[in-house]
Amino acid sequence: MSSLGEFDLIAAYFTRPVTRAALGVGDDCALLVPTPGMQLATSSDMLVEGRHFLSTVPPDRLGHKALAVNLSDLAACGARPLGFTLALALPRVDEAFLAGFSRGLLALADTHGCELVGGDTTQGPLNICITVFGEVPPGQALLRSGARAGDDLYVSGTVGDARLALEAFRGTTPLTGGTFERVRRAMEQPAPRVGLGLALRGVASSAIDVSDGLLGDLGHILRRSGVGAVVEADALPRSADLAAQPLDVQRECGLAGGDDYELLFTAPPALAGAVTLAARESGVPVTRIGRIESTPGVRLVDGRGAALSHTFGSFDHFKS
Ligand code: ADP
Ligand code: MG
Repeated sequence: MSSLGEFDLIAAYFTRPVTRAALGVGDDCALLVPTPGMQLATSSDMLVEGRHFLSTVPPDRLGHKALAVNLSDLAACGARPLGFTLALALPRVDEAFLAGFSRGLLALADTHGCELVGGDTTQGPLNICITVFGEVPPGQALLRSGARAGDDLYVSGTVGDARLALEAFRGTTPLTGGTFERVRRAMEQPAPRVGLGLALRGVASSAIDVSDGLLGDLGHILRRSGVGAVVEADALPRSADLAAQPLDVQRECGLAGGDDYELLFTAPPALAGAVTLAARESGVPVTRIGRIESTPGVRLVDGRGAALSHTFGSFDHFKS
């Protein structure tokens, strides 16, 4: 690497004192200290330029997003974040990029008490791979496999804005200034629902985070649980910006958009009050959007219960 060497770069941008881990950046391994008796939850997500982010993304937002998508996986399991490692390929040493990237990354890490404890740095096409570690009491992790017929289906926050932003970048959906800036922020700086995931332990029967589109990710819950679902298409929570778009755009973005990083989860009707409480405790709104049935597959209905046909797919990196 150029002027600033690999180790100087790590020292300058990715080394911070750890308080929770026993050993952070600088040795051959980091040493984490999970609470005795807890299970360790771990997940990796890689971000590749042109595939998971556009070259126009500001570096601080890219740093934020790289960690956010990983924290979202912990949230979907109801795990409490402990720490993470960062494997980074950089085309060149660009200090303005590194300063912004590490600022956005570490700010979100601080918000969630998730320490950067190690990683790897190399030269190559821009590529960011984070592995997060979290903890959860045995038997309490939220899984994709627990949905049962009769459960209600919920989603947190709003869905579809990130896809609307992507369409604006692609030039298919022109947006005015204020709308564009807001949906762009939703795409570039998603808020992982860690607090909600924790509050849903013992309440949700299954959960997943919406990364590849709501219907596609719902499909993962349904297959793993051996059930089906009815989804009320127009009950999907949308931002005012998305709600101002034509109905077909709203449905496409909300149902098949992707990059939302909201939690999609199920809970038995008897726990509806506990779901409301979890939403209130975590400060994240949740909306009931349908119910689980024993018949496999997804039945999409409009506000009056009439069947809607749909050909929405979920995002598959090898198909599009
Ligand atoms: P090794 O050769 O033993 O794998 P490295 O020379 O790759 O170690 O890294 C030196 C130290 O810096 C290690 O503790 C490693 O975890 C840490 N590190 C390397 N890259 C990063 C990074 N991008 N972010 C945080 N820590 C890093
Ligand atoms: Mg190494």
